[in-house]
Amino acid sequence: MTAKTNRQKPAEAAIAVPIVRYDGSEYTLQNEERLQVCIDRSLIIDNGLTFDLQNRLLIPESLYDIWFGRAREAQRCKAEKHRWKVYSEHIPLFWHHREQILSDPKLFFTETPLRVYGFGEICLGILVKAWIDYPNTFYKPCPKCKGRSLVFSFSGSPMSGMSSHSVHCLDCGTVTSGISGGEFGAFRAAIRYIIQANPVSGYSSTLSLNDIVTRLDPCNKDFIF
Ligand SMILES: [Zn+2]
Repeated sequence: MTAKTNRQKPAEAAIAVPIVRYDGSEYTLQNEERLQVCIDRSLIIDNGLTFDLQNRLLIPESLYDIWFGRAREAQRCKAEKHRWKVYSEHIPLFWHHREQILSDPKLFFTETPLRVYGFGEICLGILVKAWIDYPNTFYKPCPKCKGRSLVFSFSGSPMSGMSSHSVHCLDCGTVTSGISGGEFGAFRAAIRYIIQANPVSGYSSTLSLNDIVTRLDPCNKDFIF
């Protein structure tokens, strides 16, 4: 194939991306962030893309941003989904270790994926305090067994006060999401009071929720924080 020069468009910088797999119709590209994208051969032909001497695909910056931007967003969504899964599945573990979480700043200030309008991400200690200090709001009967169920997520409208929350039952283990009510004001006010009483004072935990789960797990009793 002869190299064509495009005289209509101004030259755009190209980024060389290695090919890690080719199955005859689809190329798998991997960039420096180790993000992978699969590109159909026809897209390479249609965009008039060429390869360099190391057999890397030369992609104009604008196209690179589209392809790898999508991959980056997909990776971010996957990581966030995983974080929510770890969080929602281990609510009973956090509850059983509530004293430890309240007394150790590294645990207290570990961020959860729960974001509250006006306060950002809520740390584990604030959540535990909400369960203990505001039981009427954050400690509900389980919709399935009527047992003890903890609110671990809520959202809603500051205007109407309408809310939707999720609970994890300590007795039967059921997670129920999308329970609607008119409690947004109560949820948010409780969080505000707790945050005011427990200023973050610049401390931020370097532990992730995954670390906490691994370390609080009964199988890892020897672990020292
Ligand atoms: Zn239950």
